[in-house]
Amino acid sequence: VRRNPGELEFHQAVFEVVQDIFVFIRDKEIYHSAQILRRLAEPDRVISFRVCWEDDGGNIRVQRGYRVQNSNAIGPYKGGLRFHRSVNQSILKFLAFEQTFKNSLTGLPMGGAKGGSDFNPKGKSEREIMRFCQSFMTELYRHIGEDTDVPAGDIGVGAREIGYMFGQYKRISNRYVGVLTGKGVDWGGSLVRTEATGYGLLYFVEEMLKYRNEHLEGKRVVISGAGNVALHAAEKAIALGAQVLTVSDSGGFLHDPVGIDSDKIKWLKACKFLGDGDLASYPTTFAGTAYYAEKRPWAIPCDIALPCATQNEISLDDARTLIANGVSLVAEGANMPTHNDAVHLFRDAKILFGPAKAANAGGVAVSGLEMSQNSQRLYWKEEQLHSLLREVMQDIHSRCLRYGLQDDGHVDYSRGANIAGFKKVADAMLAFGVV
Ligand code: NDP
Repeated sequence: VRRNPGELEFHQAVFEVVQDIFVFIRDKEIYHSAQILRRLAEPDRVISFRVCWEDDGGNIRVQRGYRVQNSNAIGPYKGGLRFHRSVNQSILKFLAFEQTFKNSLTGLPMGGAKGGSDFNPKGKSEREIMRFCQSFMTELYRHIGEDTDVPAGDIGVGAREIGYMFGQYKRISNRYVGVLTGKGVDWGGSLVRTEATGYGLLYFVEEMLKYRNEHLEGKRVVISGAGNVALHAAEKAIALGAQVLTVSDSGGFLHDPVGIDSDKIKWLKACKFLGDGDLASYPTTFAGTAYYAEKRPWAIPCDIALPCATQNEISLDDARTLIANGVSLVAEGANMPTHNDAVHLFRDAKILFGPAKAANAGGVAVSGLEMSQNSQRLYWKEEQLHSLLREVMQDIHSRCLRYGLQDDGHVDYSRGANIAGFKKVADAMLAFGVV
């Protein structure tokens, strides 16, 4: 805390991991003497830079850009770029730290990083977004590379922004390589990448349920967010027979008591990805539904809660409400959406809790497969990628079980994910010697 003053999100993320790792390494002197935990909690590099761009009115705007390279012990740095006005060093350090463990859990050779800017894409014109992305890449390009650091999208960064940044990278470097993932499928992207995080989340939930001889069919699911992760999670949950009751955005949440179906998902995708993004107009199209401004969906009774919007969106009180209403499984589609005290409550109450680093790893896993395809200069078929994604999520589930299965048969997925993710990275660091 003294070393990283004011970086609350970073403290939260490190604390969440450290409590499990301490138990695991208690009698393993080798990890202590090599100061592995301390080294992992100090990013290899934090790059911060000025990004100037010109708005449509001819005014020069100044933003701050970042790349936090946390660890490349098991592969090139890898992690998304977030464009949101809340972005700061603490948030990106927490995300890069988490990413290191998540990427390790996938079983693919990827280190951990994260980056982005406090640029707010909302309300900006196409051209303004393009100029910002080009300016951002004009500095970032010198810190990344297909074998060095491979950024991807995150909040506020989708295929359009990746396109502008990839175009600028190519222009500056005169190289056509897999330096970014999440690219369009016609110019180096992988099929299934867009759906991968949301679909992967549901594959993981399926595994959690299967382990308890349960299944998704008929389960009531409450989802937050209405972006890439949330809507693909909702789509897959519906396809697997669940009843999806809510989605939300930064303005509030919508409740559909009969359940969102695939036609309604189409409407939501058109609204959020192509239209004006106004969820509040849903009830005027679909009778019997309601939009609640400035509220979160956690008071709607459900069996499964999937927070898929942003960090710290389930408070201790929200967790109490969810438990009182009978939730039996919570799995994180977003990164760190659950406050630590709420996580403890779920863990103590033996609610099945799928932490982000395991449950939402499907996106980065398919990004890893995009890197492989780029290196091969060959593209794989959709069915093959769907089955690889499913396999990766099943493998992550097995890794969690290995270290998370308790004497009473309950699975502590947080502990399992933290230890399995840590062990692989830590062992690689030991192999490299103390530096
Ligand atoms: P999007 O930008 O596509 O969607 C984010 C959604 O969350 C939007 O509906 C947005 O509302 C809402 N939201 C954002 N900030 C807030 C806030 N402060 N309060 C309430 N709602 C908010 O992002 P993604 O779906 O890609 O990412 C969502 C989460 O999943 C993030 O935590 C991200 O790090 C994580 N993640 C994403 C991956 C991916 O492959 N995309 C991979 C792994 C993790 P509005 O529509 O009003 O902006």
